[in-house]
Amino acid sequence: MVKENLRNVEERVAKACLRSGRKREDVTLIAVSKTKPVSMIEEVLEEGVLDFGENKPQELKEKYEVLPENIRWHMIGHLQRNKIKYIIDKACLIHSVDSERLAQAISDEAGKRGIVMPVLVEVNIAREASKDGIFEENAEEFIKNISKLPYIHVEGLMAIAPFVENPEENREYFKKLRKLYVDIKSKNIDNVNMCNLSMGMTGDFEVAIEEGATLVRVGTGIFGDRDYSVR
Ligand SMILES: *Cc1c(COP(=O)(O)O)cnc(C)c1O
Repeated sequence: MVKENLRNVEERVAKACLRSGRKREDVTLIAVSKTKPVSMIEEVLEEGVLDFGENKPQELKEKYEVLPENIRWHMIGHLQRNKIKYIIDKACLIHSVDSERLAQAISDEAGKRGIVMPVLVEVNIAREASKDGIFEENAEEFIKNISKLPYIHVEGLMAIAPFVENPEENREYFKKLRKLYVDIKSKNIDNVNMCNLSMGMTGDFEVAIEEGATLVRVGTGIFGDRDYSVR
């Protein structure tokens, strides 16, 4: 089932790339495995996917410890400062930096291990009260400020679009995020390399790819519905 789902998602990713004149290798499919067992991740690994997304630091750590080392783990969820230590040497990218205090704490923790942590800045692109992320008008100054921290490296933007029935409704938000990304990129801020745009989930990843996503985060579409009651 998981393999079938994955092949279906992969085909849709490829078609969206084709439609929008993009190269397939310019879009990375992140399989969002939160709440899902190691056995399901192994099935996806067998299909050659190496990028996985988790939103709970402890869960990422537990899975990291039992799964192959060549997996690229993406920390996609809201991160509390006291949990950074669980994932700092395990995640390849933190998608959800939305405060200077968090950025500072990530930099401090990375410094202790002698590494530089790549991060994305989370933008609340639809200004939803229920969502984390900074507002677009604050993004440039925010990035300028955190770019001075020695042990993080800003590599782009991330957003979670509204939950909608029709993915077309999110196109405007993806366009907005893309524009913000290009604007900030053009400022050539020191120690910032805008190269990743993380947007699009199961319900809207095709539209996100058409609008320039380089990272799409797909959970349900690959692993099926999540059951939070078992955790
Ligand atoms: C859970 C989650 C996803 C995946 O959502 P699906 O709708 O299941 O594809 C993507 N991004 C973030 C930040 C998530 O927490």
